[in-house]
Amino acid sequence: MAAQPPEGLVNLLLYGAPGSGKGTQANVLRAYFRIPHIATGDMLRAEIAAGTELGLQAQPILAAGKYVSDEIMIGMIRNRLRQPDCDPGFIIDGFPRTVPQAAALDDLMRELGRAFDRVIYLKVPVEELLQRLSGRLVCPRCQRTYPPGTAACAIHGTPLVQREDDKPEAVRPRIEIYLEKTVPVLDHYRGEGLVSEIDGRGTIEEISRQVLAAANGKVKAQ
Ligand code: AMP
Repeated sequence: MAAQPPEGLVNLLLYGAPGSGKGTQANVLRAYFRIPHIATGDMLRAEIAAGTELGLQAQPILAAGKYVSDEIMIGMIRNRLRQPDCDPGFIIDGFPRTVPQAAALDDLMRELGRAFDRVIYLKVPVEELLQRLSGRLVCPRCQRTYPPGTAACAIHGTPLVQREDDKPEAVRPRIEIYLEKTVPVLDHYRGEGLVSEIDGRGTIEEISRQVLAAANGKVKAQ
């Protein structure tokens, strides 16, 4: 890892299926660039935990592995990217998941006078995703994920739980909707020469090295 991050704004999109390791790599990018990690799934889970109206609406949708409406998600990202902590840049994870969301994000970035520097795509075969998701455990405090059999979060010591949407009945629908609605969104960014595709199998350290190289613009887009 380079000692110093580059100067100036860094706007990144982290792409990949559920279970591809986005959350883990987002933590690496956040620590390196010192910019917020904006994960729409975490934002929705916070609404559910707080029992807000949106949370009540979203809870059964997440539990079934389906997508929350474009209208709600676009409104949520619009508000979030306007917060002052986003001034130095941001890492978006989990958005856009549909073609209309990608179009809305283009408009919003233009309004904000920003552009993405890179879209980092963590690619993992479907069979491996299904295996990873159905066993993984998560820290209810920081959302870090751990392999099956782990007792507590390495950072917080909190006992780990299984996410409701990692239960077997929700795992396959999540992958299916991702393949149908979200994979096509990548073509949108490929057309702009922004996508760095990284093999999401291997050690966390090796993948992090490639992710940071891509974010620093050292990996050519495909
Ligand atoms: P994640 O933590 O990114 O896997 O997101 C968990 C769940 O939140 C997804 O399975 C969806 O139900 C919902 N969700 C998160 N982001 C979006 C989005 N951009 N569009 C629609 N639904 C979303």
